[in-house]
Amino acid sequence: MAYVVTENCIKCKYQDCVEVCPVDCFYEGENFLVINPDECIDCGVCEPECPAEAIFPDSDPKAAAWTDANRQYAGSWPNITRKGDAPADADEWKGKPDKTKLLSPNPGR
Ligand code: SF4
Ligand code: SF4
Repeated sequence: MAYVVTENCIKCKYQDCVEVCPVDCFYEGENFLVINPDECIDCGVCEPECPAEAIFPDSDPKAAAWTDANRQYAGSWPNITRKGDAPADADEWKGKPDKTKLLSPNPGR
């Protein structure tokens, strides 16, 4: 079991989640974050912290399409443990549908 970051995070990337994770298992892309499923201890602390409601347990149907991407990018993106600045237009993208095509494969910072 692990938690999974899903579409709502794209271009929002508020990063509130990274501050509360006890095992520092978030990884940062250019406009998205992922959770390493092999490091996540399934504590659930990050889920209610996400302003974009992007985090779900992998048992949730909303997580199904995103589990592979979390595993894949956790292997190539840098670890993030401190909250940085959210994108200036994060609030404009919050809750918008159909953001999957906007996901950047590039690593953050
Ligand atoms: S708090 Fe939510 S929107 Fe912000 S980076 Fe974490 S998963 Fe993405
Ligand atoms: S569920 Fe717990 S261990 Fe997993 S990413 Fe969230 S805060 Fe970290």
